[in-house]
This record gives sequence, structure tokens and C-alpha cells, in this order.
Amino acid sequence: MNQVRKRVAFYTLGCKLNFSESSTIARQFADMGYERVSPDSEADVYVINTCSVTEHADKKCRQAIRKFTTKSPNAMVAVVGCYAQLKPEEIAQIDGVDFVLGAADKFNLPHLIGNDAKKTKVKVYSCDIDSVSDFFPAYSTGDRTRSFLKVQDGCDYHCSYCTIPLARGKSRNMPISQIVDQAKAIASQNVKEIILTGVNTGDFGKSSGETFLELIQQLDRVEGIERFRISSIEPNLITPEIVDFVAQSAKFLPHFHIPLQSGSNRILALMRRRYRRELFAERIELIRSRMPDTFFGV
Ligand code: SF4
Repeated sequence: MNQVRKRVAFYTLGCKLNFSESSTIARQFADMGYERVSPDSEADVYVINTCSVTEHADKKCRQAIRKFTTKSPNAMVAVVGCYAQLKPEEIAQIDGVDFVLGAADKFNLPHLIGNDAKKTKVKVYSCDIDSVSDFFPAYSTGDRTRSFLKVQDGCDYHCSYCTIPLARGKSRNMPISQIVDQAKAIASQNVKEIILTGVNTGDFGKSSGETFLELIQQLDRVEGIERFRISSIEPNLITPEIVDFVAQSAKFLPHFHIPLQSGSNRILALMRRRYRRELFAERIELIRSRMPDTFFGV
């Protein structure tokens, strides 16, 4: 007789990095024999991958938990990600939650759940964010045309309004050779486009002694990938060399998403951003001088 496969559903809030990580955790569950289903379906495990930037993160989280436990009262509910790292105790008090996993433990979820049955006591795995130095590789699959590839995690900038450094830890990355291997794995699944994703993507290289320019130069040579995009990059980290490389590359698209945050130098200073509006304008002009048809997202 065929064994009934357990079902896992994901509800992901926040950024592309979260989507790449949910997709990676989903593949871990698939390797353990789980079937992935929509969060609108009945499931045996629901994973809520949270964001700390989302307004009313707790409200969204509570609503999702209520919805899932109403639909499938015996399902396990795991809350992971940035909000889980920042407020584990707050989440643990919400009725129906079985697991709360912070930044260091979220990739252990399939292993921790194992074949556990729902219990009354919630398990909380949280860590001191300053001690997090591992980089967990991730990329999204399931969309046949493109994949979000995580190249960098964490941030050392400490902008005054941002909780990301507290939720994701210090800036770190995998060596380029391993990221190239991941890009080849994505290409082998017939995906044609990769979007390079990170918290502070342009800060790539801190932990491997490499540079973002070297990363894009080497990714450009991966066969089977026809298009690359850089998801978001701080203006102060866009160098003339990066712009020149993208301009001559057949694969890197003339597409830049550059956070501005404010046009006021006083506000930018209060935000502790690492540029002023003159630098922002100068980088836009630099890019436009090399690639007049560039698409800018701000
Ligand atoms: S660079 Fe971005 S992620 Fe880093 S602290 Fe500033 S706003 Fe937050």
C-alpha cells in the first residue's frame, strides 16, 4: 500500500531573500518525502517565513496562524525568519505555534520537525545574532523563467531606522566558486534568468576576500543562463568598473534598482545612509552615460 505523503505549505512575507530561503527549505522538505501544497490548502506543516520590516508583522503572523490552525487543527505551525529572530518570545505566546526558529536555525526546520506530532509546548530556537557567521546558500525554484539566487546575507551598515542587522546579522557570503556552482545547478533546471539577491548585495565579498565585480564577471560565464539582474544595490557601492562591466555584458541586463530613501541630505544624514543626493545623481548619470536605455527602479 502506498504511504500517504505529508504536506507542507509556505507563507512567505517580505523580500526576495525570504522567497529564496523558503524555496530552499521547501526543497529540504521535498527531499524528506513531503509534498508542497498551497497555503490555502490543508497541510500537515505550515511554515511562516516572516519579515521584520513589514508593518504589523505580528498581526499578519497571527492572522496566518489562525487561518492555518482553523483549516488543519492538527498541523504543525513553524514561524521562522527575521521577525522570529527579533521577537521569539512574542511569537511563542501566540496560540497554535509549535516552532519558532531564528536566523541560525531556520534551515534545520525539516530536521527538527522530523515526524514530530503536534504538542502543547512550543519549541523556541533562537540565537544571539552577533554569533551568527554561517552563510546558508539559497535559491528559488518553481518559477520556470527565473530564480532568485542569494549571494550575500546580513548587513554591517546600521542605518538608524533599520532592524535588518539585528535580524540577519553581519555581512557575509559564500565564495564565488560555490555561487557559480549554484548558478550552474539553476541552469541545469532550464531556468534562463537569475536575479542576484542579498541584504546589501553590493557589499558582497566581505567574508571571502572577493569583490562584487569579480562575482558578476564569473557568473557571466555560466552557460545556460541568458539573463542576470542585480536586485538592489546601494548607490555608494556602484563603481565605474561594475557599470562598465554591465555595459559590455550580453547577459547582465541594464536594470538597476537603487535605494534612495530620501532626497534630503539632512534626512539621509539622520538615517545614517552612506551617500548624499549628489552622489546618487552622479551614479545615475554615470550609468546613463554608458547605457542610455537603462531601467531604473528607485
Ligand atoms: S544598508 Fe539596508 S539592510 Fe543595511 S542597515 Fe541600511 S537599510 Fe538596513
